[in-house]
Amino acid sequence: MLEVRDLRAGYAAGEVLHGLTFSVPPGSIVSLVGANGAGKSTTLKAVSGLLPPREGSIVVDGRTLPGGSAQVAVKAGLAHVPEGRQVFSNMSVADNLSLGSYATRRVGEPVPRRLESVLELFPELAGRLNEYAGSLSGGQQQMLAIGRSLMARPTLLLLDEPSLGLAPIVVDPIFELLKRLRGEGTTNLLVEQNVHRALEIADRAYVLASGRVESEGAAAMLRASAEIEKAYLGIGVSE
Ligand code: ATP
Repeated sequence: MLEVRDLRAGYAAGEVLHGLTFSVPPGSIVSLVGANGAGKSTTLKAVSGLLPPREGSIVVDGRTLPGGSAQVAVKAGLAHVPEGRQVFSNMSVADNLSLGSYATRRVGEPVPRRLESVLELFPELAGRLNEYAGSLSGGQQQMLAIGRSLMARPTLLLLDEPSLGLAPIVVDPIFELLKRLRGEGTTNLLVEQNVHRALEIADRAYVLASGRVESEGAAAMLRASAEIEKAYLGIGVSE
């Protein structure tokens, strides 16, 4: 369970998030949608400790995170799959995966067993463990980025634009995987530029505009709302 209250955060140039409140119930998928620059990626960075919040609280399973510490966030069960995948191109697939387990390697499930489960989810990676991550296709790199996060054994997964730049045929298995993770109890916060897909897969969604929550509700309800589509999303909900 993630509960974010009155979150304010920004960069040197100024405040970007002006007091966001939202929650992600256990075992659900919640989407953050909104136009470019609304603050979706900034929200994920603040939640995962990459960007120190200026105000507000971030509570994971009842525990308030200190804010601004990615290491504490990972140890609290949170993993961030960043926009653009950001795999280490000059390292092997195996080493990229292994890095994901580093902060939590001494607790919980042994790392070799985690690797087995990740490779079971992504069989395509199994045959390429010794190859450079940079030699993988875009879709495989996205799988590697997700796999790397899963190596931390997170209870809460933050995904930033997993479909960005990928063909629909490559995106389908990634969304199927998200459904599977939800079914296994993982809690998921999804930022996705493909609003149609985001609202199709999510249980609930929050529409952000200029660093504020403009609207929220069951994803199916938001999907049906042409007014919201026009006013806040800036693009059509149908593909
Ligand atoms: P997009 O889909 O375009 O990534 P977004 O909703 O994820 O949009 P953010 O990336 O969170 O939006 O950006 C919100 C605002 O913060 C924008 O005005 C952006 O220019 C600014 N911003 C983002 N990253 C930085 C940074 N590292 N330094 C300064 N400003 C930034």
